[in-house]
Amino acid sequence: MNLQSGTYYWPATFPDAPSYPSLKEDRDLDVLIVGGGSSAAQCAYYLAASHLKTAVVEKGKIGHGSTSTNTALIQYSGEKMFTNLINTFGKGYIGRHLQLLKEAINEIEAASRTAEIDCEFTRRDTLYFASCKEDVNRLKKEYELLKQHNFQLDFLKEQEIKARYPFSKDAAIYSYNDGELNPFKFTHSLFDYSAQKGVSIYENTEVNGYHYDRQQNRAIVSTKTGHSIKARHVIFAAGYEGLEVKKEKKASFVSTYTVTTNPVQDLSTWYNRTLIWETARPYLFMRTTADNRIIIGGLDDNTTYPEDRDSKLIHKKDKLIAEFKKMFPHIQAEPAYYSAAFYGGTVDGLPIIGVYDQYPNTYFLFAFGDNGTVYSQMLAKIITREIIEGGHPDLPLYLQNRPLLSKS
Ligand SMILES: Cc1cc2nc3c(=O)[nH]c(=O)nc-3n(C[C@H](O)[C@H](O)[C@H](O)COP(=O)(O)OP(=O)(O)OC[C@H]3O[C@@H](n4cnc5c(N)ncnc54)[C@H](O)[C@@H]3O)c2cc1C
Repeated sequence: MNLQSGTYYWPATFPDAPSYPSLKEDRDLDVLIVGGGSSAAQCAYYLAASHLKTAVVEKGKIGHGSTSTNTALIQYSGEKMFTNLINTFGKGYIGRHLQLLKEAINEIEAASRTAEIDCEFTRRDTLYFASCKEDVNRLKKEYELLKQHNFQLDFLKEQEIKARYPFSKDAAIYSYNDGELNPFKFTHSLFDYSAQKGVSIYENTEVNGYHYDRQQNRAIVSTKTGHSIKARHVIFAAGYEGLEVKKEKKASFVSTYTVTTNPVQDLSTWYNRTLIWETARPYLFMRTTADNRIIIGGLDDNTTYPEDRDSKLIHKKDKLIAEFKKMFPHIQAEPAYYSAAFYGGTVDGLPIIGVYDQYPNTYFLFAFGDNGTVYSQMLAKIITREIIEGGHPDLPLYLQNRPLLSKS
């Protein structure tokens, strides 16, 4: 799959990233993880604490898939408001989902502090503003719901926003304790930690075949390097390319665009360097980086053709910068890196753990959605607990065939 094009900031921040050999022998494993992005890294991290014989195979280099274009705003709020998700799934269901989201950010922080490579994890507050007057009521309802679930947040009116930022908006939710990180370093840090604990990691090793031997109770996976891997369990954490192995009708795609600017001198007009996004769909979002750059993203487009996606890149880059300058006219920001990418979501707004009859003991981690990093933490923990302990009570919440309108 042609996932993305352009120039990428995150890999440039870590030119000496560790590298790993390709697979040069057959293996017999407890767990095989397919993919070398941040989702696979989170699975490896949890499995590293077990005694299971685990290996990771990545067809290219670690962290060069969607992980390298991930803007890595680490937030619990996502594309669909929780007030809408409740209509689809019911209060109890979404109450549990909210609890898991909250825990996920804590878990990501804990993992980033455990591993040796610094992945620039920083707690940040979020400003989620109403893009137009008509959205103020919706935003207020979302605020009230999140308050009931004990999230720490304020509802800001126009004057309060004006007092903090150089732009004016009708209203906003100001939420505390979200986060940001460097997703390329995060991925490398978790793989480095896992490798030190005995997980085998192979780059340049593409999986090109799978069948399940029911007599041996093993998946038999073949690689392009000509080797065979037997595994009691397989986790496909192959990002959007996981859909090339197993189609999933709940998944959907758009094209999206991001710009990373040069380092800027003065960020003093950017209150608390908050993560910023809005109620419009598609939305615009922005954050800062450890070396004082600004990342601006959004302007999604419905096209799923790579040539069409890429032909709009220069125009979208200029537009993203122009939108940013409207909000922060005193910050001198020029584009340094910019990219176009496919971006997966799900039709009902929750990420998916795919479990299918034709793939026994195999899990497809589809952490699709705008909070992919947070979702992949939740799914990685559930899947690895399923494998290590033989079950996890939250698995049914994310299965591809989850019930809608459950009022549990
Ligand atoms: C532009 C953009 C902005 C985003 N912004 C945010 C954000 O602000 N916050 C957030 O939380 N999430 C965000 N996301 C989502 C986030 O990027 C993804 O959820 C996450 O990075 C995907 O990681 P992954 O490991 O699932 O996929 P990938 O990084 O794509 O990793 C999958 C890996 O599997 C490998 N692979 C595929 N097929 C095979 C095979 N057959 N054999 C071996 N290896 C294989 C690929 O080479 C790849 O390296 C964003 C995504 C995009 C595209």
